[in-house]
Amino acid sequence: MFSFGTRNVGIDLGTANTLVYIEGKGIVLREPSVVARNTKTNEVVAVGTAAKEMLGRTPGSITAIRPMRDGVIADYETTVAMLKYYLGKALGTRGAKPYVTIGVPSGVTAVERRAVIDAARVAGARDAYVIEEPFAAAVGAGLPVMEPTGSMVVDLGGGTTDVATISLGGIVSSRSIRMAGDKIDEAIMTYVRQKYSVLIGEQTAERLKMAIGSADVEASEDMEGTTARGRDLVTGLPKTIEIKASDVADAIKDVIAEVIVAIKETLEETSPEIAADVIDRGIVLTGGGAQLAHLDEVIAEATKVPVFVAPEPLDAVVIGTGEALKSIDVLKNN
Ligand code: ADP
Ligand code: MG
Repeated sequence: MFSFGTRNVGIDLGTANTLVYIEGKGIVLREPSVVARNTKTNEVVAVGTAAKEMLGRTPGSITAIRPMRDGVIADYETTVAMLKYYLGKALGTRGAKPYVTIGVPSGVTAVERRAVIDAARVAGARDAYVIEEPFAAAVGAGLPVMEPTGSMVVDLGGGTTDVATISLGGIVSSRSIRMAGDKIDEAIMTYVRQKYSVLIGEQTAERLKMAIGSADVEASEDMEGTTARGRDLVTGLPKTIEIKASDVADAIKDVIAEVIVAIKETLEETSPEIAADVIDRGIVLTGGGAQLAHLDEVIAEATKVPVFVAPEPLDAVVIGTGEALKSIDVLKNN
């Protein structure tokens, strides 16, 4: 069916991270979704990890951009540049153009979906197909999505948290809320500014979250704190402060509460049969946010349903898009 050299590629174009999967090879690339450009010439200066280090540290001549916001394309040109770079890096410049499947959050508009397909084509895809991210995440987490049984997945990314129940190959109920990693980082920045009068950067906030963050305020009382550096708002000078684990837990508890509301609402919308299946099989957490300490326990407590973190939470969506490549002929005919 395919001409020699045609390759199928799955892409997780996330707000925080982009991953590329090549059929037959597996995951070949994991990089932050960040691009640094020269502000005068518009030339791309760095992409991925190197560009992420520049965030918040650029001189006037360079700007570091996260082209995806809230799970969708916010800066089309930069998204194309990033995809082109990553496809080149993953596949090399020779060979036939690849067919690509890309994950998009559930509930994106037709225009947003179109933009993703166009961006992939302009970046060098022979053709592109989209797959709903929670579905891809469920496939990647190994849930029995094609069977007549209800599965539930919660994908906590940088821009959105996507919640879905799935049965017989389709999404039964879903929610996509703009409450995820970025909102958690912002909440930490705000909290530190208000409590300590110190301004910390986004990257520092993210590091605090990963190092000492907890979804459970009570449990955080027994966790170790750490230090953070920022700018003292009173003196205007750099300052190092001690941050307690309970500070971070306190800062982020409202975002966690919203995620729990979305999960409960999604459960309420399913049929009793699917709700019963979910009680039996539990809820599976994917995405980077699934790694937040005590998140699984807090969700289990609030929903009275067992909760599991997927084995490789950051890889679930791209593995799912990779699996979807096996049925790309079906997608092509749609
Ligand atoms: P996206 O699909 O939107 O690109 P990812 O699934 O790659 O997002 O997850 C990235 C998000 O997960 C970021 O907001 C990051 O800060 C967060 N994250 C990564 N590791 C952890 C951790 N250990 N604890 C809490 N959040 C984490
Ligand atoms: Mg994601």
